[in-house]
Amino acid sequence: MKQYYIAGNWKMHRTIAESVELAKELVAKLEGSSSKIMIAPAFTSLAAVATVLKGSNVLLGAQNMGPEEQGAHTGEISPAMLKDAGVSVVILGHSERRHSYLETDELINKKLLLALKHGLEPILCVGETLAEREGGNLESVVRTQVVEGLKGVAETELAKVIIAYEPVWAIGTGKTATPEDADAVHAYIRRVLKELYSEKSAVAMTIQYGGSVKPENAAELMAKANIDGALVGGASLKAESFVPIVNFYK
Ligand code: PEP
Repeated sequence: MKQYYIAGNWKMHRTIAESVELAKELVAKLEGSSSKIMIAPAFTSLAAVATVLKGSNVLLGAQNMGPEEQGAHTGEISPAMLKDAGVSVVILGHSERRHSYLETDELINKKLLLALKHGLEPILCVGETLAEREGGNLESVVRTQVVEGLKGVAETELAKVIIAYEPVWAIGTGKTATPEDADAVHAYIRRVLKELYSEKSAVAMTIQYGGSVKPENAAELMAKANIDGALVGGASLKAESFVPIVNFYK
């Protein structure tokens, strides 16, 4: 069985104490899981959660990162600061960043290149809105986000990048793309990667699905050939729902 990559995005939830408590529970319950696992608490909880995750099989991720190395950038967090806090993965271009904070493909690409430069594993989120899907623009939207997001990434660096396909209309709404629909978009992303790089790199890319993933639908999504894992929002906030998603194969 391939190794699936299940990541939890805690968004703007949990105090430091609550984050530590949840991280401890996850470490205990996920020991021995064959999935690759990441959790992304709020910035304020990163350092405290890092101490809990030390020596475990759970990676620490950040939900965002500033586009600069350092300097006069009020409110931003640099890659070096994330690494200092124990972070090894960073989620970039989440639809909430794209739509609520107007992050452009250009900005996301700048962050992605900076993350790679600093040895952080970027998870590049892509996905269409309902209007874009219904307007027949799904493929062009996803293509642009992939092509622009990966601009300047050499093929040798591509293996360090993860892509998460998250249809915006499925995030936090309880609506999930059918496994067939999600698989078809993942296959399309691989076709774009093949055009940009090579068949080998396209096949090797880890592509997570995100959008209302729950214990009840994880196994059928993961059964699809082109789905290599999940980026989980709401259901990652409780061990009782995140653990069965990570261990969907059991
Ligand atoms: C997400 O935030 O990336 C996400 C997929 O959220 P949810 O699982 O709650 O839909």
